[in-house]
Amino acid sequence: MDEARAWLDKLHALDFGRTVKIMNVCGGHERSITHAGLRGALPKWLELVPGPGCPVCVCPEEDVYQAIQLALRDKVILVAYGDMLRVPVNVRKGEVRSLAEAQAAGADVRPIASPLDARKIARENPGRPVVFFAAGFETTTAPTAAMLAEGVPPNLAILLSGRLTWPAVAMLLDSGSPGFDALVAPGHVSTVMGPEEWRFVVDRHEIPCAVAGFGTESLLASFYSVLRQLKTGERFLDNCYTEVAHPGGNPTAQRFMNAALDVVDANWRGIGVIPNSGYALKPALAQHDARVLFPDHADPGRRRAGEMPPGCDCAQVVLGKIYPNQCRIYGKACTPRNPVGPCMVSDEGACRIWWAGGVRV
Ligand code: SF4
Repeated sequence: MDEARAWLDKLHALDFGRTVKIMNVCGGHERSITHAGLRGALPKWLELVPGPGCPVCVCPEEDVYQAIQLALRDKVILVAYGDMLRVPVNVRKGEVRSLAEAQAAGADVRPIASPLDARKIARENPGRPVVFFAAGFETTTAPTAAMLAEGVPPNLAILLSGRLTWPAVAMLLDSGSPGFDALVAPGHVSTVMGPEEWRFVVDRHEIPCAVAGFGTESLLASFYSVLRQLKTGERFLDNCYTEVAHPGGNPTAQRFMNAALDVVDANWRGIGVIPNSGYALKPALAQHDARVLFPDHADPGRRRAGEMPPGCDCAQVVLGKIYPNQCRIYGKACTPRNPVGPCMVSDEGACRIWWAGGVRV
């Protein structure tokens, strides 16, 4: 706490005479910031903007729809990380609109905590197809790749909806109006991919950037680092999570990912296709690729940008263009009990985090 106090004092000693915005792109960062009440403790001129840090929020509607259709198929066991179960899709009245509703309708949908749970369930049910709906960023995609590289039972298929974090930030920066002055890069992603992955923010765009962990001290240190850079005009990629995020990241995880996955253009819910921002199973693993095995359950007609429920501003929230409580239906039609958009469903969604943190309209 003394260390946090010292960082806060240093931050309050800075002044810019204008509003300065720092974006984070990690649901874990946003949770730590909100639950520690950091926004209230920081100088008034400093705004912390939650950006694209929630993989459940950007998972395309057509993928959730396909997962629901597969779950409703005879004999199929559909497994997914718990957050995915309540994500709603746009369907006609009376149709199943989430995996949780499919489960209530009798489908065998099971929440899991890791890819190893999926493999275990497949081994225990050799006579049934098991589909693992694997949505996540690099940190959760890496264990899926490791499992695939090590070998999986023939009845296990993966519906992969993996995303890379940095291309969304690159897209914002390339737009010319990113909406932030500095970036706090995700510590966990950096442990896998290496902090260097964020060097482009500094080198190509001259935006201060620092990798941070989830502790208050690490976050405050990263804020101070990027603000000092803004003040002095210096630009460098700082690492405020050196105890965990090492240069080069995790070579073993990267080897598994390179062995099992290709990087492809990918759709982000409400945002559209971002080049080289998704993972797909390599063709050699087609026998485990749900997109290859069950093409009749895909609905390419759903593939479009703007696929949010009516009134939902999730895409704007994910891109940091508005704060969660600026959504038109935040806390009104949309609450954790009755979520309208995915940002109110996931523990990594900014709307849910802000609501749980007591932020009201
Ligand atoms: Fe989407 Fe609900 Fe958040 Fe609005 S309050 S952006 S509808 S999740």
